Parts: sequence; C-alpha cells; structure tokens
Amino acid sequence: MVSKMRPMEQILELYNAGHRAFGENRPQELKEKYEILPKDIEWHFIGHLQTNKIKYIAPYISLIQSIDKLSLLCDVNYHAVKHNRIISCLLQFHIAQEDTKYGLTWDECIEILDSVVFKTLKNIEIKGVMGMATFTNNQTLIRKEFKRLYHYYVLLKEKYFYNQPEFKEISMGMSDDYEIAIAENSSLLRIGSKIFNC
Ligand SMILES: *Cc1c(COP(=O)(O)O)cnc(C)c1O
Repeated sequence: MVSKMRPMEQILELYNAGHRAFGENRPQELKEKYEILPKDIEWHFIGHLQTNKIKYIAPYISLIQSIDKLSLLCDVNYHAVKHNRIISCLLQFHIAQEDTKYGLTWDECIEILDSVVFKTLKNIEIKGVMGMATFTNNQTLIRKEFKRLYHYYVLLKEKYFYNQPEFKEISMGMSDDYEIAIAENSSLLRIGSKIFNC
C-alpha cells in the first residue's frame, strides 16, 4: 500500500481495517509518519534514496525497495551496522522505456553482485527485485516489461541466491497495471491511488 503524500488519518483508517505494510518515497515524510503512527506498521521505502537521507529511515525501515547503486548499498549497510540491524533490500531494475526512471540494467546488477565489496556487506539482505513498467496504455508493452523483470529474478535466483529462501520478492504492479503484474508473478504490489482515492 503506497501512502506517500497521504495524511496520517487516512493511513490510520487503513491500519484499523487491518493493513500493516505501507510504502513511502520521501525519508523525512516517512520519519514523521513513523514517529506518530502505530509501531507495528511495516514501512517500505520505494523512492530514490539519497545517501544523506538514509539516517531518517535506518532505525526502523522494513524494506528498501529501491537499491540501484553499489555505493547506496554500502551506505545502507553502514547505517545498518550503526543500528545493529540487518536491513532488507530489493534491487531496482530499469525495465521501462522512459529514461527518467531509476534502476539498474542487468549488467550493472551483475557487476554489483560479483564485486568484492558486495561480499563484505554483512548488514544488508537482498530479498528480491523491484521494477516500474512504462506509463502507457499499451498492455503488451507493460506485460513484456514485467516478464523481463521476472526473468531477471529467476536468473539471479539461480546464479546468486539459490540457497536463500528469503530471496523471493518480485515487487511490481501499481494501480493501473496490477492485474498484469499478478498474472506475471508479482509477489508484492505497490498500490496507491486505487486504494486511497476510493
Ligand atoms: C507512487 C508509487 C506507486 C503507486 O502508484 P499508484 O499509481 O498510485 O498506485 C508505486 N510504486 C512507486 C515506486 C511509486 O512511487
């Protein structure tokens, strides 16, 4: 459930209806909400994360879905060590046609996973992949992009994470494309407007 820019009262309403996982894309906004809202909420970070903002979310974040650089992973690991926690992360892939969207290419991802530095990061745990499809009405294109993300997931699972059951998340699907995402093996939808606007 993506709660970015939604007021706390609306989040509480959903919380009272039983929802526990919420996604935000601005560290300071997330921190304010974390401090006031119930502590058993599972907070996900789903936006572009700048190094100097990691401190706002490091003590409590459940899942950072938007890792797209080795240096970011190192910085998250640094804060995780400081707070004596393991922080769960997803590798964000660039699957859309727009070049405005963040995310790794396949080659960049392999470079990270093969690096010596990556193997030294003991306080992060990679739990899967994330991606955003092109903003379009072209269902065929969206489907193709989700298939590609799933394919990346399968390849990574075989090559790097075959003995790690916690590598199981495929985060894809938003309000306008969640049905295609479910059909293409999404394990984690990120729905905002469809829930908050009804
Ligand atoms: C805002 C956002 C969503 C949710 O979008 P909706 O169209 O409102 O469902 C999902 N993922 C990311 C990364 C977002 O920034």
